[in-house]
Amino acid sequence: MLLIAHGGAGGRKPTKTALKKIKEALKAGYSILEGKGSALASIIETIAILEDSGLFNAGTGANLQLDGVRRLDAAVMEGARLEAGSVIGLEGYKNPIRAAEIVMESPHKILTNIGAKVLSFAYDLEPMPELDEKTLARLKRLKAGEHELVEIFKKHFSTVGAVAIDRDGDLAAGSSTGGVALMLPGRVGDTPIIGAGVYADNATGAVACTGKGEDIIRVCLAKEASMRMCGSAPIPAARGALKKILSIGGEAGLIAIKRTGAFAIMHTTAYMASGYTNGKEVVVKEGFTMVK
Ligand code: ASP
Repeated sequence: MLLIAHGGAGGRKPTKTALKKIKEALKAGYSILEGKGSALASIIETIAILEDSGLFNAGTGANLQLDGVRRLDAAVMEGARLEAGSVIGLEGYKNPIRAAEIVMESPHKILTNIGAKVLSFAYDLEPMPELDEKTLARLKRLKAGEHELVEIFKKHFSTVGAVAIDRDGDLAAGSSTGGVALMLPGRVGDTPIIGAGVYADNATGAVACTGKGEDIIRVCLAKEASMRMCGSAPIPAARGALKKILSIGGEAGLIAIKRTGAFAIMHTTAYMASGYTNGKEVVVKEGFTMVK
């Protein structure tokens, strides 16, 4: 059994608090695997902890769109059944990853805000707290083009994601985001696009991505990396897929795992707050392997 999680690729050094939170989320997510829980249940709990922390661009810490509204995207996928669910632009609820799971078990695969909100209400998901002054003030500064802040935000993606393999050898992947800085209302990135932000197939591998969604979508990065794991180890597969991102001038990072338990944590950016646990140790770092 193995669980991997990330808190976003980027050019800014992750804080100690963020790394600590990833460690905490990994421990909690792994305890689900130990309790005979599925890979899917494990990644959802891991991601929900990161969403609730307010430390990442997901859940209560999510970016605002230019009109001052948080519209959250998330997706989950199971490798055994090739089942997937996603929500796009969910407003008013703090755990889009849970909404994505609900969509997966509904007759549909993707719901935008209007439908995702109805299901979130029906399933009693927790509402998003009111926006605080600090977040609103940050958007104001970004809009005013405060150079330093805009540069930081352009280079820093802090979407969260996780992949896991459970005791039955089943794989799962999930991802949750508030998008990127200074996005137009209605902008959608890679995260809720099955095959771009996440993909899981027991026959190949499970992948969750982070980075500039506009680039990741063009390469269908998660599916690209997953397909490359057919007959190949995660490390060369992830490297090949990320080189494709670099070839279009993009930036991204990904976590990938195969049924054998082999895995890769790779990024084209200087950092990617991430880590893994196999129950014996929990390893969390500012970054793992950088691809140039
Ligand atoms: N991939 C996300 C998006 O484009 C951003 C991120 O990874 O932080 O919406």
